[in-house]
Amino acid sequence: MPLLYSHLSTSFVTVSCRSSSSSLLSNRPSRYAVLGAGFAGLSVAWHLLHSSKELDVCVDIYDEVGIGGGASGVAGGLLHPYSPKVKLLWRGAECWKESLNLLNVAEGALFKLVNRGKQDSLPNGESSIVKRRGILRPAVSLKNMDLMIGNAENCLTTCRIESIHKDAAQSLVPDISVPLNLAFYMPEALNINSQLYLEALYLACENLAEEMSKLGIARKELCLHKKSVESLLELAGEYNAVIICLGARAAFLPELSGRLPFADMQRKDYPKHSPSILSDTWLSVKGARNIHIGSTWEWKSTNYSRDVSMEEASKAMEVLLPKASAVYPPIKDWTITGAMAGLRAMPPLTADGSLPILGCIDNLIGGGNNGRGKYWLFTGLGARGLLFHGWLGKLMAQAVLSCDEGLIPSELTSWKYKMQQQEAKYPMPVLRSFLNVD
Ligand SMILES: Cc1cc2nc3c(=O)[nH]c(=O)nc-3n(C[C@H](O)[C@H](O)[C@H](O)COP(=O)(O)OP(=O)(O)OC[C@H]3O[C@@H](n4cnc5c(N)ncnc54)[C@H](O)[C@@H]3O)c2cc1C
Repeated sequence: MPLLYSHLSTSFVTVSCRSSSSSLLSNRPSRYAVLGAGFAGLSVAWHLLHSSKELDVCVDIYDEVGIGGGASGVAGGLLHPYSPKVKLLWRGAECWKESLNLLNVAEGALFKLVNRGKQDSLPNGESSIVKRRGILRPAVSLKNMDLMIGNAENCLTTCRIESIHKDAAQSLVPDISVPLNLAFYMPEALNINSQLYLEALYLACENLAEEMSKLGIARKELCLHKKSVESLLELAGEYNAVIICLGARAAFLPELSGRLPFADMQRKDYPKHSPSILSDTWLSVKGARNIHIGSTWEWKSTNYSRDVSMEEASKAMEVLLPKASAVYPPIKDWTITGAMAGLRAMPPLTADGSLPILGCIDNLIGGGNNGRGKYWLFTGLGARGLLFHGWLGKLMAQAVLSCDEGLIPSELTSWKYKMQQQEAKYPMPVLRSFLNVD
Protein backbone atom coordinates (compact mmCIF):
# COMPACT_ATOMS: atom_id res chain seq x y z
CA MET A 1 0.00 0.00 0.00
CA PRO A 2 1.64 3.20 -1.08
CA LEU A 3 1.84 5.83 1.57
CA LEU A 4 2.96 8.92 -0.24
CA TYR A 5 3.49 10.37 -3.66
CA SER A 6 6.76 9.53 -5.23
CA HIS A 7 8.62 12.65 -6.36
CA LEU A 8 9.43 10.91 -9.58
CA SER A 9 5.91 10.09 -10.67
CA THR A 10 6.08 12.09 -13.82
CA SER A 11 5.03 10.72 -17.15
CA PHE A 12 6.94 11.29 -20.34
CA VAL A 13 5.88 10.52 -23.84
CA THR A 14 8.01 10.66 -26.90
CA VAL A 15 8.04 9.24 -30.36
CA SER A 16 11.05 7.68 -31.98
CA CYS A 17 12.24 5.05 -34.40
CA ARG A 18 9.99 6.19 -37.21
CA SER A 19 10.46 3.90 -40.15
CA SER A 20 10.98 5.50 -43.49
CA SER A 21 8.55 3.23 -45.29
CA SER A 22 4.97 4.34 -45.09
CA SER A 23 2.49 1.61 -44.27
CA LEU A 24 0.20 2.83 -46.98
CA LEU A 25 2.90 2.28 -49.54
CA SER A 26 3.99 -1.10 -48.24
CA ASN A 27 0.40 -2.28 -47.65
CA ARG A 28 1.41 -3.51 -44.24
CA PRO A 29 -0.34 -2.22 -41.11
CA SER A 30 1.31 0.62 -39.26
CA ARG A 31 2.92 -0.87 -36.20
CA TYR A 32 3.25 1.02 -32.93
CA ALA A 33 4.95 -0.03 -29.74
CA VAL A 34 3.59 1.59 -26.58
CA LEU A 35 5.92 1.03 -23.66
CA GLY A 36 4.04 1.00 -20.36
CA ALA A 37 0.44 0.22 -19.53
CA GLY A 38 -0.26 3.03 -17.08
CA PHE A 39 -2.40 6.12 -17.55
CA ALA A 40 -0.06 7.45 -20.22
CA GLY A 41 0.37 4.25 -22.20
CA LEU A 42 -3.28 3.25 -22.29
CA SER A 43 -4.40 6.70 -23.22
CA VAL A 44 -1.93 6.68 -26.12
CA ALA A 45 -3.04 3.20 -27.17
CA TRP A 46 -6.70 4.21 -27.16
CA HIS A 47 -6.03 7.29 -29.12
CA LEU A 48 -3.83 5.51 -31.64
CA LEU A 49 -6.62 3.09 -32.38
CA HIS A 50 -9.34 5.67 -32.31
CA SER A 51 -7.65 8.31 -34.38
CA SER A 52 -6.47 6.02 -37.11
CA LYS A 53 -9.96 5.13 -38.25
CA GLU A 54 -9.14 4.52 -41.88
CA LEU A 55 -5.76 2.88 -41.43
CA ASP A 56 -4.66 -0.64 -40.74
CA VAL A 57 -2.98 -0.34 -37.38
CA CYS A 58 -1.26 -2.69 -35.00
CA VAL A 59 -0.57 -1.53 -31.44
CA ASP A 60 1.73 -3.54 -29.22
CA ILE A 61 1.77 -2.51 -25.55
CA TYR A 62 4.76 -3.63 -23.51
CA ASP A 63 4.63 -3.66 -19.73
CA GLU A 64 6.82 -5.79 -17.54
CA VAL A 65 4.16 -6.06 -14.85
CA GLY A 66 0.95 -5.72 -16.78
CA ILE A 67 -1.84 -3.16 -16.73
CA GLY A 68 -1.29 -0.61 -13.96
CA GLY A 69 2.03 -2.06 -12.93
CA GLY A 70 3.53 1.33 -12.05
CA ALA A 71 2.43 4.49 -10.31
CA SER A 72 -0.94 4.52 -12.07
CA GLY A 73 -2.10 1.30 -10.52
CA VAL A 74 -1.51 2.61 -7.03
CA ALA A 75 -2.53 6.23 -7.57
CA GLY A 76 -4.88 7.75 -5.04
CA GLY A 77 -7.25 8.52 -7.89
CA LEU A 78 -8.15 12.12 -7.08
CA LEU A 79 -9.18 13.90 -10.28
CA HIS A 80 -9.72 17.66 -10.54
CA PRO A 81 -8.05 20.48 -12.50
CA TYR A 82 -6.75 22.60 -9.60
CA SER A 83 -3.47 23.26 -7.82
CA PRO A 84 -3.26 22.94 -4.02
CA LYS A 85 -4.12 26.66 -3.92
CA VAL A 86 -7.22 25.83 -5.97
CA LYS A 87 -5.85 27.63 -9.01
CA LEU A 88 -6.89 26.30 -12.39
CA LEU A 89 -3.93 24.39 -13.77
CA TRP A 90 -2.35 24.89 -17.19
CA ARG A 91 -4.89 23.94 -19.83
CA GLY A 92 -7.09 22.76 -17.01
CA ALA A 93 -10.27 23.02 -19.03
CA GLU A 94 -9.04 20.84 -21.92
CA CYS A 95 -7.39 18.33 -19.62
CA TRP A 96 -10.47 18.04 -17.45
CA LYS A 97 -12.71 17.54 -20.48
CA GLU A 98 -10.51 14.87 -22.04
CA SER A 99 -10.10 13.03 -18.74
CA LEU A 100 -13.86 12.87 -18.45
CA ASN A 101 -14.11 11.62 -22.04
CA LEU A 102 -11.66 8.82 -21.44
CA LEU A 103 -13.36 8.00 -18.20
CA ASN A 104 -16.63 7.70 -20.11
CA VAL A 105 -14.94 5.39 -22.59
CA ALA A 106 -13.70 3.16 -19.76
CA GLU A 107 -17.05 3.24 -17.99
CA GLY A 108 -18.74 2.27 -21.24
CA ALA A 109 -16.49 -0.77 -21.63
CA LEU A 110 -17.10 -1.77 -18.06
CA PHE A 111 -20.82 -1.34 -18.47
CA LYS A 112 -20.77 -3.71 -21.45
CA LEU A 113 -18.79 -6.25 -19.50
CA VAL A 114 -21.13 -6.10 -16.52
CA ASN A 115 -24.12 -6.43 -18.84
CA ARG A 116 -22.61 -9.62 -20.16
CA GLY A 117 -22.23 -10.80 -16.55
CA LYS A 118 -18.46 -10.96 -16.85
CA GLN A 119 -17.40 -8.54 -14.13
CA ASP A 120 -15.81 -11.41 -12.21
CA SER A 121 -12.83 -11.08 -14.50
CA LEU A 122 -12.12 -7.65 -13.02
CA PRO A 123 -9.91 -7.01 -9.99
CA ASN A 124 -11.85 -7.92 -6.82
CA GLY A 125 -15.04 -8.18 -8.88
CA GLU A 126 -15.46 -4.41 -8.52
CA SER A 127 -17.71 -2.63 -10.95
CA SER A 128 -17.55 1.06 -10.16
CA ILE A 129 -14.71 3.16 -11.52
CA VAL A 130 -15.72 6.53 -10.20
CA LYS A 131 -16.87 7.83 -6.87
CA ARG A 132 -18.75 11.06 -7.43
CA ARG A 133 -18.53 12.56 -3.99
CA GLY A 134 -16.50 15.65 -4.65
CA ILE A 135 -13.36 16.79 -2.87
CA LEU A 136 -13.03 19.09 0.12
CA ARG A 137 -9.98 21.28 0.70
CA PRO A 138 -9.85 23.10 4.06
CA ALA A 139 -7.87 26.34 4.13
CA VAL A 140 -4.92 25.91 6.45
CA SER A 141 -2.82 29.01 5.92
CA LEU A 142 -3.94 32.59 6.59
CA LYS A 143 -1.27 33.78 4.21
CA ASN A 144 -2.86 32.08 1.20
CA MET A 145 -6.48 32.57 2.11
CA ASP A 146 -7.21 35.66 -0.05
CA LEU A 147 -5.33 34.13 -2.95
CA MET A 148 -7.33 30.93 -2.68
CA ILE A 149 -10.63 32.79 -2.49
CA GLY A 150 -9.66 34.68 -5.66
CA ASN A 151 -8.60 31.47 -7.41
CA ALA A 152 -11.81 29.73 -6.47
CA GLU A 153 -13.81 32.50 -8.11
CA ASN A 154 -12.09 31.67 -11.43
CA CYS A 155 -13.04 28.05 -11.40
CA LEU A 156 -14.48 26.07 -14.32
CA THR A 157 -18.23 25.92 -14.58
CA THR A 158 -17.90 22.17 -15.17
CA CYS A 159 -15.87 21.69 -12.01
CA ARG A 160 -17.02 24.31 -9.57
CA ILE A 161 -15.34 25.41 -6.38
CA GLU A 162 -17.58 26.60 -3.57
CA SER A 163 -16.06 28.50 -0.66
CA ILE A 164 -17.87 27.13 2.36
CA HIS A 165 -17.90 27.76 6.09
CA LYS A 166 -16.64 25.29 8.67
CA ASP A 167 -20.18 24.19 9.59
CA ALA A 168 -20.98 23.31 6.00
CA ALA A 169 -17.66 21.50 5.68
CA GLN A 170 -18.36 19.57 8.84
CA SER A 171 -21.77 18.62 7.64
CA LEU A 172 -20.05 17.08 4.62
CA VAL A 173 -17.30 15.42 6.63
CA PRO A 174 -18.09 15.22 10.33
CA ASP A 175 -15.00 15.72 12.51
CA ILE A 176 -12.95 17.32 9.78
CA SER A 177 -10.57 19.96 11.10
CA VAL A 178 -11.17 23.37 9.51
CA PRO A 179 -8.73 25.58 11.41
CA LEU A 180 -9.55 28.83 9.56
CA ASN A 181 -13.31 28.24 9.34
CA LEU A 182 -13.10 28.14 5.56
CA ALA A 183 -12.98 25.26 3.11
CA PHE A 184 -13.19 24.87 -0.67
CA TYR A 185 -15.61 22.30 -1.94
CA MET A 186 -15.39 20.88 -5.48
CA PRO A 187 -18.64 18.95 -5.89
CA GLU A 188 -17.83 17.66 -9.39
CA ALA A 189 -14.30 16.50 -8.60
CA LEU A 190 -13.84 12.74 -8.78
CA ASN A 191 -12.25 9.87 -7.02
CA ILE A 192 -11.19 7.14 -9.41
CA ASN A 193 -10.48 3.51 -8.76
CA SER A 194 -7.24 3.68 -10.70
CA GLN A 195 -6.61 0.00 -11.32
CA LEU A 196 -10.16 -0.68 -12.38
CA TYR A 197 -10.10 2.33 -14.63
CA LEU A 198 -6.97 1.07 -16.35
CA GLU A 199 -8.36 -2.42 -16.82
CA ALA A 200 -11.54 -0.96 -18.28
CA LEU A 201 -9.62 1.36 -20.56
CA TYR A 202 -7.63 -1.53 -21.92
CA LEU A 203 -10.85 -3.41 -22.47
CA ALA A 204 -12.21 -0.42 -24.34
CA CYS A 205 -9.14 -0.51 -26.58
CA GLU A 206 -9.74 -4.19 -27.27
CA ASN A 207 -13.42 -3.58 -28.04
CA LEU A 208 -12.60 -0.73 -30.33
CA ALA A 209 -10.06 -2.76 -32.27
CA GLU A 210 -12.49 -5.64 -32.59
CA GLU A 211 -15.46 -3.53 -33.63
CA MET A 212 -13.60 -1.57 -36.27
CA SER A 213 -12.09 -4.69 -37.73
CA LYS A 214 -15.50 -6.37 -37.83
CA LEU A 215 -17.03 -3.42 -39.61
CA GLY A 216 -14.39 -3.84 -42.25
CA ILE A 217 -13.36 -0.20 -42.05
CA ALA A 218 -9.78 -1.05 -41.24
CA ARG A 219 -7.80 -3.81 -39.64
CA LYS A 220 -6.92 -3.07 -36.00
CA GLU A 221 -4.73 -5.21 -33.81
CA LEU A 222 -3.94 -4.77 -30.16
CA CYS A 223 -1.62 -6.88 -28.11
CA LEU A 224 -0.33 -6.60 -24.55
CA HIS A 225 3.11 -8.10 -24.06
CA LYS A 226 4.06 -8.71 -20.47
CA LYS A 227 7.70 -8.08 -21.08
CA SER A 228 10.42 -5.83 -19.82
CA VAL A 229 12.02 -3.51 -22.32
CA GLU A 230 15.63 -2.97 -21.41
CA SER A 231 16.65 -0.86 -24.34
CA LEU A 232 14.93 0.89 -27.19
CA LEU A 233 17.29 -0.78 -29.58
CA GLU A 234 15.46 -4.05 -28.92
CA LEU A 235 12.53 -2.66 -30.84
CA ALA A 236 14.43 -0.93 -33.54
CA GLY A 237 13.24 -1.68 -37.03
CA GLU A 238 10.05 -3.43 -36.01
CA TYR A 239 7.81 -0.45 -35.53
CA ASN A 240 6.75 2.67 -37.25
CA ALA A 241 6.95 4.44 -33.90
CA VAL A 242 7.78 3.61 -30.32
CA ILE A 243 5.98 5.60 -27.65
CA ILE A 244 7.65 5.52 -24.26
CA CYS A 245 5.16 5.75 -21.41
CA LEU A 246 7.23 4.26 -18.64
CA GLY A 247 6.57 6.92 -16.03
CA ALA A 248 9.55 7.50 -13.78
CA ARG A 249 11.15 4.44 -15.26
CA ALA A 250 11.70 6.11 -18.61
CA ALA A 251 14.81 7.58 -17.06
CA PHE A 252 16.12 4.09 -16.54
CA LEU A 253 16.33 3.30 -20.22
CA PRO A 254 19.98 3.47 -21.23
CA GLU A 255 19.16 5.76 -24.11
CA LEU A 256 17.48 8.30 -21.80
CA SER A 257 19.41 7.90 -18.61
CA GLY A 258 20.48 11.27 -17.19
CA ARG A 259 18.89 13.09 -20.12
CA LEU A 260 15.35 13.74 -18.94
CA PRO A 261 14.33 16.94 -17.21
CA PHE A 262 12.89 15.29 -14.13
CA ALA A 263 12.83 17.53 -11.07
CA ASP A 264 16.02 17.39 -9.11
CA MET A 265 15.49 16.14 -5.61
CA GLN A 266 17.57 17.73 -2.94
CA ARG A 267 17.83 14.47 -1.10
CA LYS A 268 21.12 12.65 -1.34
CA ASP A 269 21.16 9.50 -3.46
CA TYR A 270 22.33 6.28 -1.94
CA PRO A 271 26.00 6.01 -2.83
CA LYS A 272 26.44 4.16 -6.08
CA HIS A 273 28.55 1.23 -5.00
CA SER A 274 27.64 1.04 -1.33
CA PRO A 275 26.30 -2.26 -0.05
CA SER A 276 22.88 -2.96 1.33
CA ILE A 277 22.62 -2.97 5.13
CA LEU A 278 21.79 -5.82 7.44
CA SER A 279 21.10 -4.81 11.00
CA ASP A 280 18.22 -5.05 13.40
CA THR A 281 16.35 -4.52 10.18
CA TRP A 282 17.51 -4.81 6.55
CA LEU A 283 17.92 -2.12 3.93
CA SER A 284 17.99 -3.67 0.51
CA VAL A 285 19.22 -1.16 -2.03
CA LYS A 286 17.32 -1.41 -5.31
CA GLY A 287 18.78 1.70 -6.86
CA ALA A 288 20.21 5.09 -6.00
CA ARG A 289 16.71 6.23 -5.08
CA ASN A 290 14.94 3.09 -4.13
CA ILE A 291 15.45 1.05 -1.01
CA HIS A 292 13.38 -1.71 0.55
CA ILE A 293 13.37 -1.92 4.33
CA GLY A 294 12.18 -5.00 6.17
CA SER A 295 10.67 -6.77 7.79
CA THR A 296 8.01 -7.24 10.42
CA TRP A 297 6.94 -10.65 11.61
CA GLU A 298 3.56 -12.09 12.08
CA TRP A 299 2.88 -15.59 13.18
CA LYS A 300 0.13 -17.78 11.88
CA SER A 301 -0.91 -15.30 9.21
CA THR A 302 -2.39 -16.90 6.14
CA ASN A 303 -2.82 -13.69 4.24
CA TYR A 304 -0.58 -14.08 1.21
CA SER A 305 -1.64 -10.92 -0.55
CA ARG A 306 1.20 -8.55 -1.33
CA ASP A 307 -1.16 -5.69 -0.63
CA VAL A 308 -0.99 -4.17 2.80
CA SER A 309 -3.77 -2.31 4.59
CA MET A 310 -3.09 1.26 5.70
CA GLU A 311 -3.22 0.06 9.28
CA GLU A 312 -0.61 -2.60 8.66
CA ALA A 313 1.54 -0.20 6.64
CA SER A 314 1.52 2.32 9.52
CA LYS A 315 2.41 -0.37 12.01
CA ALA A 316 5.24 -1.53 9.77
CA MET A 317 6.46 2.05 9.51
CA GLU A 318 6.46 2.49 13.28
CA VAL A 319 8.49 -0.66 13.73
CA LEU A 320 10.87 -0.36 10.81
CA LEU A 321 11.74 3.30 10.43
CA PRO A 322 13.33 3.85 13.88
CA LYS A 323 15.40 0.74 13.36
CA ALA A 324 16.42 1.73 9.86
CA SER A 325 17.27 5.32 10.77
CA ALA A 326 19.24 4.14 13.76
CA VAL A 327 21.51 2.39 11.35
CA TYR A 328 21.25 4.76 8.37
CA PRO A 329 20.14 8.23 9.57
CA PRO A 330 19.66 9.85 6.10
CA ILE A 331 16.70 7.55 5.54
CA LYS A 332 14.64 10.01 7.59
CA ASP A 333 14.65 12.37 4.61
CA TRP A 334 13.38 9.79 2.17
CA THR A 335 9.76 9.33 1.24
CA ILE A 336 7.87 6.12 1.82
CA THR A 337 6.27 5.13 -1.45
CA GLY A 338 4.73 1.85 -0.53
CA ALA A 339 4.43 -1.13 1.73
CA MET A 340 4.18 -4.71 0.62
CA ALA A 341 3.84 -8.05 2.27
CA GLY A 342 4.71 -11.61 1.58
CA LEU A 343 4.57 -14.97 3.22
CA ARG A 344 7.80 -16.68 4.01
CA ALA A 345 7.64 -20.43 4.44
CA MET A 346 9.96 -21.05 7.38
CA PRO A 347 10.93 -24.67 7.92
CA PRO A 348 11.72 -25.91 11.42
CA LEU A 349 15.17 -25.50 12.88
CA THR A 350 17.34 -28.62 12.64
CA ALA A 351 20.89 -29.34 13.75
CA ASP A 352 21.94 -28.02 10.32
CA GLY A 353 19.87 -24.87 10.57
CA SER A 354 16.58 -24.20 8.84
CA LEU A 355 16.56 -26.39 5.76
CA PRO A 356 14.26 -26.38 2.77
CA ILE A 357 11.58 -28.99 2.32
CA LEU A 358 11.84 -31.13 -0.81
CA GLY A 359 10.69 -34.46 -2.09
CA CYS A 360 8.18 -36.57 -3.91
CA ILE A 361 4.82 -36.29 -2.19
CA ASP A 362 2.75 -38.83 -4.07
CA ASN A 363 2.04 -40.55 -0.80
CA LEU A 364 0.74 -37.34 0.73
CA ILE A 365 -1.43 -36.54 -2.23
CA GLY A 366 -2.76 -40.07 -2.64
CA GLY A 367 -4.75 -41.03 -5.73
CA GLY A 368 -2.82 -44.19 -6.58
CA ASN A 369 0.18 -42.79 -8.36
CA ASN A 370 2.05 -46.03 -7.78
CA GLY A 371 5.27 -44.27 -6.93
CA ARG A 372 5.46 -42.75 -10.41
CA GLY A 373 6.76 -39.51 -9.03
CA LYS A 374 3.93 -37.29 -10.17
CA TYR A 375 3.83 -34.74 -7.36
CA TRP A 376 6.91 -33.06 -5.98
CA LEU A 377 7.41 -30.36 -3.39
CA PHE A 378 10.09 -27.65 -3.30
CA THR A 379 9.39 -25.15 -0.55
CA GLY A 380 10.60 -23.85 2.80
CA LEU A 381 13.35 -21.68 1.36
CA GLY A 382 12.85 -19.43 4.38
CA ALA A 383 15.21 -16.51 4.52
CA ARG A 384 17.70 -18.03 2.11
CA GLY A 385 15.84 -18.39 -1.13
CA LEU A 386 18.53 -16.81 -3.23
CA LEU A 387 21.17 -19.03 -1.77
CA PHE A 388 19.23 -22.25 -2.05
CA HIS A 389 17.20 -21.94 -5.18
CA GLY A 390 19.91 -22.56 -7.77
CA TRP A 391 21.39 -25.78 -6.67
CA LEU A 392 18.30 -27.29 -5.16
CA GLY A 393 16.30 -26.37 -8.23
CA LYS A 394 18.78 -28.32 -10.30
CA LEU A 395 18.65 -31.34 -8.01
CA MET A 396 14.92 -31.20 -7.95
CA ALA A 397 14.74 -31.17 -11.74
CA GLN A 398 17.10 -34.12 -11.98
CA ALA A 399 15.10 -36.04 -9.39
CA VAL A 400 11.87 -35.38 -11.22
CA LEU A 401 13.28 -36.29 -14.64
CA SER A 402 14.75 -39.55 -13.42
CA CYS A 403 12.00 -40.16 -10.92
CA ASP A 404 14.60 -40.69 -8.24
CA GLU A 405 14.13 -38.92 -4.94
CA GLY A 406 17.46 -40.35 -3.82
CA LEU A 407 19.19 -37.57 -5.76
CA ILE A 408 17.97 -35.11 -3.16
CA PRO A 409 20.00 -34.93 0.06
CA SER A 410 18.17 -36.88 2.73
CA GLU A 411 18.30 -33.94 5.17
CA LEU A 412 15.82 -32.25 2.89
CA THR A 413 13.45 -35.15 2.51
CA SER A 414 13.55 -36.45 6.08
CA TRP A 415 10.72 -34.13 7.06
CA LYS A 416 8.32 -36.58 5.45
CA TYR A 417 9.26 -39.44 7.73
CA LYS A 418 9.27 -37.23 10.79
CA MET A 419 5.91 -35.92 9.78
CA GLN A 420 4.52 -39.37 9.33
CA GLN A 421 5.90 -40.40 12.70
CA GLN A 422 4.81 -37.43 14.69
CA GLU A 423 2.02 -36.05 12.53
CA ALA A 424 3.62 -32.81 13.55
CA LYS A 425 2.48 -29.56 12.03
CA TYR A 426 5.41 -27.32 11.44
CA PRO A 427 4.86 -23.69 12.27
CA MET A 428 5.08 -21.40 9.31
CA PRO A 429 6.06 -17.97 10.57
CA VAL A 430 5.67 -15.37 7.95
CA LEU A 431 7.36 -12.30 6.70
CA ARG A 432 4.78 -9.58 6.41
CA SER A 433 5.43 -6.01 5.61
CA PHE A 434 8.32 -4.23 4.14
CA LEU A 435 8.53 -0.65 3.11
CA ASN A 436 9.57 0.89 -0.14
CA VAL A 437 11.21 4.25 0.35
CA ASP A 438 12.17 6.50 -2.48
C1 LIG B 1 1.29 6.72 -4.35
C2 LIG B 1 0.86 7.57 -5.48
C3 LIG B 1 -0.39 8.18 -5.44
C4 LIG B 1 -0.79 8.97 -6.50
N1 LIG B 1 -2.02 9.53 -6.45
C5 LIG B 1 -2.46 10.25 -7.50
C6 LIG B 1 -3.76 10.80 -7.49
O1 LIG B 1 -4.54 10.67 -6.54
N2 LIG B 1 -4.14 11.48 -8.58
C7 LIG B 1 -3.33 11.65 -9.66
O2 LIG B 1 -3.73 12.27 -10.64
N3 LIG B 1 -2.07 11.15 -9.68
C8 LIG B 1 -1.62 10.46 -8.64
N4 LIG B 1 -0.37 9.95 -8.65
C9 LIG B 1 0.47 10.20 -9.83
C10 LIG B 1 0.14 9.23 -10.95
O3 LIG B 1 0.02 7.94 -10.43
C11 LIG B 1 1.22 9.25 -12.03
O4 LIG B 1 1.31 10.52 -12.54
C12 LIG B 1 0.87 8.27 -13.16
O5 LIG B 1 0.57 7.02 -12.65
C13 LIG B 1 1.99 8.13 -14.16
O6 LIG B 1 1.53 7.20 -15.13
P1 LIG B 1 2.49 6.56 -16.21
O7 LIG B 1 1.64 5.78 -17.13
O8 LIG B 1 3.34 7.59 -16.77
O9 LIG B 1 3.49 5.63 -15.40
P2 LIG B 1 3.25 4.28 -14.64
O10 LIG B 1 1.87 4.17 -14.14
O11 LIG B 1 4.34 4.18 -13.65
O12 LIG B 1 3.40 3.21 -15.79
C14 LIG B 1 4.64 2.75 -16.23
C15 LIG B 1 4.49 1.32 -16.59
O13 LIG B 1 5.68 0.90 -17.23
C16 LIG B 1 6.02 -0.35 -16.80
N5 LIG B 1 7.44 -0.45 -16.95
C17 LIG B 1 8.41 0.27 -16.31
N6 LIG B 1 9.62 -0.08 -16.77
C18 LIG B 1 9.42 -1.02 -17.72
C19 LIG B 1 10.28 -1.75 -18.60
N7 LIG B 1 11.59 -1.59 -18.58
N8 LIG B 1 9.73 -2.63 -19.46
C20 LIG B 1 8.39 -2.81 -19.52
N9 LIG B 1 7.54 -2.14 -18.72
C21 LIG B 1 8.05 -1.27 -17.84
C22 LIG B 1 5.54 -0.38 -15.35
O14 LIG B 1 5.26 -1.68 -14.96
C23 LIG B 1 4.29 0.47 -15.39
O15 LIG B 1 3.10 -0.27 -15.54
C24 LIG B 1 0.06 9.16 -7.62
C25 LIG B 1 1.29 8.55 -7.66
C26 LIG B 1 1.70 7.75 -6.60
C27 LIG B 1 3.04 7.08 -6.67
